[in-house]
Amino acid sequence: MLKKKVNKTICSYCGVGCGMDVSVDSKGTITVEGDVSYPVNKGMLCSKGKNLNYVAQDTTDRILFPQMRWSRNHPMQRVSWDSAFERAAAVFKSIIDRHGPDSVGFYVSGQCLTEEYYLVNKLAKGFIGTNNIDTNSRLCMSSAVVGYKKMLGEDSVPISYDDIELSDCFLIAGANPAWCHPILFRRIEKHKAENPNVKIIVVDPRKTQTCAIADLHLQILPGTDVILFNALARWLIEKRKIDKKFIKQHTSNFEACKKTAFELSLKRAAELCGIAVDDIRKAAGFIGNAKAFISMWTMGLNQSVIGVAKNMALLNLSLLTGQIGKPGSGPFSLTGQPNAMGGREVGGMASLLAAHKDLGNPKHRKEVAEFWGCKAISGEAGYTATEMFDALDRGKLKAIWIICTNPVVSLPNSHKVERALKKASFVVVQDISHRSETTQFADLLLPAAGWLEKEGTMTNSERRISYLPQVIDPPGEALPDAEILWRFAQHMGFKGFDYKNAGEVYDEHCLLTKGTHIDISGLSHRRLKDEGSFQWPVPDPKHMGTPRLFTDLRFYTNDQKSHFNVPPKLYNQSEETDSTFPLILNTGRVRDQWHTRTKTGKVKRLLAHIPEPYLEMNKVDAYLRDLKDGDVAIVKSRRGQVQVKVKVNFDIRERVVFLPMHWGKVLNNDFGRANNITNDLVDPISKEPDFKYCAVQVGKF
Ligand code: SF4
Repeated sequence: MLKKKVNKTICSYCGVGCGMDVSVDSKGTITVEGDVSYPVNKGMLCSKGKNLNYVAQDTTDRILFPQMRWSRNHPMQRVSWDSAFERAAAVFKSIIDRHGPDSVGFYVSGQCLTEEYYLVNKLAKGFIGTNNIDTNSRLCMSSAVVGYKKMLGEDSVPISYDDIELSDCFLIAGANPAWCHPILFRRIEKHKAENPNVKIIVVDPRKTQTCAIADLHLQILPGTDVILFNALARWLIEKRKIDKKFIKQHTSNFEACKKTAFELSLKRAAELCGIAVDDIRKAAGFIGNAKAFISMWTMGLNQSVIGVAKNMALLNLSLLTGQIGKPGSGPFSLTGQPNAMGGREVGGMASLLAAHKDLGNPKHRKEVAEFWGCKAISGEAGYTATEMFDALDRGKLKAIWIICTNPVVSLPNSHKVERALKKASFVVVQDISHRSETTQFADLLLPAAGWLEKEGTMTNSERRISYLPQVIDPPGEALPDAEILWRFAQHMGFKGFDYKNAGEVYDEHCLLTKGTHIDISGLSHRRLKDEGSFQWPVPDPKHMGTPRLFTDLRFYTNDQKSHFNVPPKLYNQSEETDSTFPLILNTGRVRDQWHTRTKTGKVKRLLAHIPEPYLEMNKVDAYLRDLKDGDVAIVKSRRGQVQVKVKVNFDIRERVVFLPMHWGKVLNNDFGRANNITNDLVDPISKEPDFKYCAVQVGKF
């Protein structure tokens, strides 16, 4: 009997980036298993990963051929790829001629492969002449990016997953890895089970599944993270549990950090956070007495109007204790999406430039422009994710090209996003599935190849670059996103887009990184395919990758020191609650769904976990509103309302409610559509939305 060919690839969901063995039999049936040889997951997969074969197998929802309409009064009609490209190029050229290059924009995704991200940035920033290229990673990691840059000099996750097994203290803040990064959580759980002295502190207004392994759960009031981290800093300084030598030799600005930490007494900080002062002391003691300390965080800190401040206050703890660049130590942002990191490497945001070069630096812009063979690159940041839709709404932006993301469901204040798309002169949607609600707004709809149907690379949360091969053919006339982009660029008449495959794009990107802190010039496409994954930097062909950064304690700042940063905002700046909207809404993920459910929503096994949206609320708040578990309630904010069933417990703090973000327009009503009610506020520096805090009221339906 012939042995089935096993293709090694990477899961297309979260930033953990698990390795998979994929095989296809003679009938086309796809099988997925965890790759036991892959260092990240060692054969394990979570429920979402295990069921990816159903997603890839089922093509009933797929967009199979290009479609377009001549005006909003005309129906969509099938067209050839050539007609689609000609129309797109003609409309873009005409809008740019009339209104300038900043009248068009691209909104892409942390699920795009690195080559796709690279191309759309080269196209927009280099050749169209606009920095209006942003990504849904703006909703995910941009506060962490700013924190890393300010304190370490560059957007650089210092540690590796293998540091988990070397650590004896974890501070998990604003994250629920048990559900959202399950395989990473399994590794922490196993490490704790084998080493009961390992301490785990969880900071979250909800008692989540992650709390099951916690030694201490700090159930703080939403928005009080900075106050808590400063209180921990104060205790560490007072009890001399800081690394004075490291602070003196390898940091700057310690006195400012100390001054801020001492602004509030521990007692006052505890009152403001809504927790016991002894719990602050206990948590600080765990950190101060640890031989190796890791802080982990994700959206609970990042998705905030003070997201950058929260990141800086947390990173201060690693610098105070000198717990960075050492085994088992360091700050570790958990990336939500599979390739948010790869996107950042190629400058995939309106405020970034390729190869971690600085958009604000004229020398860097010149280097990139010369490399690409284009005219000058503008130093002005383009529209960020929410700004792009605001600009459409105001008529400043005329055309938008949306790739692999569903902003009608995922962006805050959904009704405004819908209105903005209706006002746009031209909307291109490039996606795999009709299940994306955003496709309904397309003037031009382009069918993209999905996971297993195209080749490319991704970088996971620990800077590991992996190759994803094409295993099956895309359905219908769908094309790889990279090919769609380079063919569009050719139709626009731009030089430098005559690629034959994604490997050529990858090798060009590698060359651009040479001499930078993310130098992967030693990791050619051939080497990546032959030798497997590597953690950047990989500066020469013999280099085996870099699991841990800053082992020499030289940081990427100008003075090579890490910089303490004083959070500019101690107190939360979110919208205020009042007697009309007295509760705080927190949105987030559930275990078996992914983003806006365009993929996971069609897998029966995954739907069995949580089949419909729900509002988690404290029993006291429910009692006061005469609500029982399972009742349908109305949740209202200053922007809109949704209906949803309530789930009542004591796991969530009083005055806080939680609504999953996955559900959009189900059966054409707004049942459970969280972003009907979320607000428009963003962090002023990172421009990341304030998804974790909006004022609402809940009442009986
Ligand atoms: Fe995929 Fe993330 Fe699950 Fe791993 S943990 S299988 S990457 S969803």
